[in-house]
Amino acid sequence: MLRAGICGTDMHIYGGNQPYFEYPRVIGHELSAEVLEADPDSGLRAGDLAFINPYIACGSCVACRAGKTNCCVRLSVLGVHCDGGLTQYLSLPAENVVKADGLDADEAAMVEFLAVGAHAVARAQVREGASVLVAGSGPIGIGVALFASLRGADVTVVDIREERLSFCASHLAVTTEQLGEGLRDRLLNRTAGEMFANVFDATGSPAAMEAGFSNVAHGGTYTLVSIVNARIGFEDPEFHKREMNLLSSRNAQPQDFELVVKAIRDGRVPTRAMNTHRVAFEDLPREMPNLVRSDSGTIKALVEIG
Ligand SMILES: [Zn+2]
Ligand SMILES: [Zn+2]
Repeated sequence: MLRAGICGTDMHIYGGNQPYFEYPRVIGHELSAEVLEADPDSGLRAGDLAFINPYIACGSCVACRAGKTNCCVRLSVLGVHCDGGLTQYLSLPAENVVKADGLDADEAAMVEFLAVGAHAVARAQVREGASVLVAGSGPIGIGVALFASLRGADVTVVDIREERLSFCASHLAVTTEQLGEGLRDRLLNRTAGEMFANVFDATGSPAAMEAGFSNVAHGGTYTLVSIVNARIGFEDPEFHKREMNLLSSRNAQPQDFELVVKAIRDGRVPTRAMNTHRVAFEDLPREMPNLVRSDSGTIKALVEIG
């Protein structure tokens, strides 16, 4: 293993507040690696730099048969349902190890979380010129905003955290709005009173997920990328009169990974700027509490394993 990204899921696992999680567990699902040994007909060779697709699908369930391995009934995610990549060596099915030609080890470890954003944008079929609102500017929200703007959408990012919004404003082709007094009027102004053809939630907040329904334009689509351990409610007349599409978006599919690799290779992803923190493998037990702190300024921390 070469690099492992640390994300919100890892922080929840570390904090003991990830639902349905069994301990002990080796975490790490945002991974890059060097191939040491591979089946000759796998297309992989010793020395290849690879990124890891951490979703191990069964291949036979109703979702897998429909090509939706990202929501396999028996999905096992590395570092969540089975031991992950914060380790020196890992043995994996060849189809989960993907050559990352043209990327470096840092970039390859950033493919997975960006693919989650790219998948949400693909799910929502965001069109060129569409007005898009992304709530939440963590790494997943940043990925959604980035891939929506690469499709030519007019993207607004809303968050409460000023430093995240200034990151988005300086590194992505998006407009930002801070949560607070008068937000609804500002959003109405931005869209000539129509609100947004595509709204994405990446906040992890049940209240924000519910509030997002009223930001969707008539005929628009609301995509929930967040997962929360809660019930979400909405006013049916508001939902119905819009003929709103309501989608969940889970993980990513191989074509999303491919799209991300191409975008990184083309220099369209600010990977350097997103990688705010680096930690040596042996220092991680000491540094993890600092990365978890909400004032740490972390966008993406990478652990240097090898
Ligand atoms: Zn993650
Ligand atoms: Zn399956």
